[in-house]
Amino acid sequence: MPGPDRIRWGVVIHGGVGVLPEEDLTPELERDYRDTLAQSLEAGHAALLDGRAEDGVVEAIRVMEDSPLFNAGRGSNLDADGRVSTDASIMTGEDLAAGAVAEVTTVRNPIELARMVMERSPNVFMVGAGAEAFARLNGIEITPNEWFVTERRLRALEDAVAREAAGDGTPNVLGRPADVPLPKPDSSTRFAGTVGAVALDRAGRICAGTSTGGMANKRFGRIGDSPVIGAGTYASDLCGVSCTGWGEYFIRNAVAHDVAARMAYLGVTVGEAVDQVIHGTLQAQRPGLGGLVALGRDGTVVMDFNTAGMYRGRVDQEGALDVGIY
Ligand code: ASP
Repeated sequence: MPGPDRIRWGVVIHGGVGVLPEEDLTPELERDYRDTLAQSLEAGHAALLDGRAEDGVVEAIRVMEDSPLFNAGRGSNLDADGRVSTDASIMTGEDLAAGAVAEVTTVRNPIELARMVMERSPNVFMVGAGAEAFARLNGIEITPNEWFVTERRLRALEDAVAREAAGDGTPNVLGRPADVPLPKPDSSTRFAGTVGAVALDRAGRICAGTSTGGMANKRFGRIGDSPVIGAGTYASDLCGVSCTGWGEYFIRNAVAHDVAARMAYLGVTVGEAVDQVIHGTLQAQRPGLGGLVALGRDGTVVMDFNTAGMYRGRVDQEGALDVGIY
């Protein structure tokens, strides 16, 4: 049996567990996804040639935020009001520095803003109007909200509204009587492509980041796991983790931190820790649907999920890359 995939330095990425059903993925669309994942990995690799782990994460994620294919930046899922609001977070392992933003509506690359929070403020988490004011103060690129909105996500919003009306029990449904059980998960498509990256640089530093438009038809200021440090993103001196999936479950189980904690407390490998969380903890709580990418400090690459697929890829120090979907 081959050993775990291990890199000296490089980047591992995901483009979300909300993959299209295999029969809906046309050859053209599949090529677009694979090309964009490859571009993201190349950008991350190029940034690491003479940069730090956080450069690798931001540049890899920027490509996916700018692509309409993924649920981050342009092409994000739409809120119930038809607008896009985005969340992002980033963390470096050696010093536990972290930055996160949520409910941001005009920043072209939310991951860049998360990094600014980490590097230029004494705080970790900024939301809404305050985060936008901080963004403007720091001269980040601002764009009208319409720029993020795509035809495909408008249709996805209509679909989400219809499914919620039919009582499919999405996390947005309020007032579910206690005796009405959560529905069986049908598909993970409502998550639709949150993006994330974990990088290990030449100096052995680890950084993890995640960026999302959240779930389709979200309202009441709902925020998922992606910007929550310890839930959607975490990095320590042992590993870096970026998650995707049904955010409420990832928050309740502090999934990204749990991977690092299992390594620290149980002495298990990063692969074992991820397996326990994704196929143990979350699987037992179905619909705890989702997946994650992780890097151990020894360069072990992990890309794991309990859904039909996860857009994903990794690149090593030589620039050799590999992408996958199902
Ligand atoms: N985890 C994200 C959220 O709940 C969604 C996703 O991963 O696609 O907001």
